[in-house]
Parts: sequence; structure tokens; C-alpha cells
Amino acid sequence: METAVISGKGGTGKSSISAAFATLGERVIVADCDVDAANLYLLFNPQHQDEQIYIAGQKAVIDIAKCTNCGICMEYCRFGAISFKGSANIVSIKGSANIVSIDEISCDGCRLCERVCPEKAIDMVNNDRSRMYSGSFRNGKMVYGRLAPGEENSGKLVNMVRERARVLSKESGIDEIIIDGPPGTGCAVISSITGTDRVIVVTEPTSSGLHDLKRTLEMISKFAFSTWVIINKYDLNESISLNIESYCSGEGVRVAGKIKFDPVVVDAMINSKSVIEYAPGSHVSQSIKEIWREIQRYG
Ligand code: SF4
Ligand code: SF4
Repeated sequence: METAVISGKGGTGKSSISAAFATLGERVIVADCDVDAANLYLLFNPQHQDEQIYIAGQKAVIDIAKCTNCGICMEYCRFGAISFKGSANIVSIKGSANIVSIDEISCDGCRLCERVCPEKAIDMVNNDRSRMYSGSFRNGKMVYGRLAPGEENSGKLVNMVRERARVLSKESGIDEIIIDGPPGTGCAVISSITGTDRVIVVTEPTSSGLHDLKRTLEMISKFAFSTWVIINKYDLNESISLNIESYCSGEGVRVAGKIKFDPVVVDAMINSKSVIEYAPGSHVSQSIKEIWREIQRYG
């Protein structure tokens, strides 16, 4: 059974709730698919058993031994990735103390500069700083991706993480996979939820929370899986919480439960534990247990 936990925006408490679900007792596979900002590994401190390089496209590099600083590539680059940069040691043929260089963060990997360079001074190299890790943690197995700054194609890395989670599930005989998805409605989110058995959307009682929830549910409606909503920190604005419940009811989406605001959730994180582990008797933990039971009961 694959359960994806997502949110329309960051800061709703999605990862805290994912971590709580992952430590309710039953052994699980945790797949942290928030590859731009994976953080569950900090909480679960997994023992790594596997590390794989993720190739996130390519970038252009200039062989300065061949480059004549003609500037042709710079004129063609539509991403503004190529510019003259000052150098104390090299003087270009244009007479300035500047050399042509490529900003790897801005480079889109389109290869145009490689084709137009008259000196064949540009090569494409793999973006290979992103990684996927997997291993064991105290309640099962864990897999997560870390996209290096400036590297793209997060959706493909999410697919890689999910594929590894399924392999771990088969190898270990652990059936339950908890996916902590990225916030928003981008391609990485779609990769996180495609083909799952159920999706839980965590929201909070703010106007922007409601707005983002609507966008998220609209996106989810294109897929055919069991959908649930959790209203986190509902007591911070009970009026908007009621609006969220009424909106969900109108859309035929089930609200699995509401969770009170409690600083104990942050205290748990600071102590590298889920709230279930840190404060099992707290109101928050009780609510999360009831929500999980409700979701399990009805799918
Ligand atoms: S087109 Fe080639 S030779 Fe000209 S500046 Fe660019 S890399 Fe250098
Ligand atoms: S590969 Fe494309 S984006 Fe990258 S520097 Fe060359 S022209 Fe610009």
C-alpha cells in the first residue's frame, strides 16, 4: 500500500505528519520525495546501505586552452549563462582582461553553444552531484533523494526514489510505503502521487492554505485514487477550518481529521524524533493515531 502525503505549500507540517505515520508501530518503507529539501533523514538518521548518482541532465563547459574568447557562444545562449568574466592572468583576443565563462546554475544544457563554437572548445558534461540514498532506520527502511543546488529534473529523481522504495518493499516484505511528497503542484508532486493507492493533503487554516488546497485538489481530481485532507493546527483559525471542511464536503473529499497546534511537534523535531515517539500521550499524537486508523479503515 502506497500513501503519499503532500501539501499545497511548504510549512503546513506535512513532513512532521509523515514522520508520525512512519513511527506508529508497524514497520514501513519511508520514501522522502521532497528531493529539493529532503529532511526526514535528519530525523530518522538511516544507516546507508546504498548510494546512487543521479544524472540531472548536462551542462556546458569551456576548454579555455581552445577558446579564443570570440564571444559567439555568448550571443547565441538564450539563458544568459555565458558572459565575460574578469581574469588577472588571461587577456582575450579582444584586448580586455576578460574570458568567456559559463555559469553552471544558469546553463540549461541545450547544447547550442557546443554547436556554434568555431573552435570546438565547448563540451557537455553530466550534472552528477545529485544523489539517492537508501538504508535502514529504526522502524523499517528509508530511501531519499537529494537534488544538488541548481540541478533540475526533480520529477525523474522522485521516480528513482519511488522505484527504489518498491524494490525495498519487495526485498524486505514490508508492505506499507509512506511517501513524503514535495509541496506545490509541480512535476515532482505529480511524480510523487502517480500510481499511489491514496493521497493525503495536509493543509492549514489560512487563506493561502485554503487557496493552495483548492489548487492541489483540482490537480488530484485528474487522478483516480483515494483522497484525504488533514487540517493541521486547525485551532489557529477555527473559522477558516470550517470553511475548509465545508469546501471539502462540497467537493466530496473526506477530511480524515483535524490536529491542534502544539509546540511539542517542534520540540520533537529538535530532539530528532517524531511526535509519536517524543510525546506519545500528547493530544497531537492521539489525533494522528485516530486519523491513521480512520484512513486505514476506509482506504
Ligand atoms: S564560441 Fe567557442 S571560442 Fe568563441 S568564446 Fe565561445 S567557447 Fe570560446
Ligand atoms: S548549453 Fe545552452 S544554456 Fe548552456 S551555456 Fe550553452 S547555449 Fe547556454
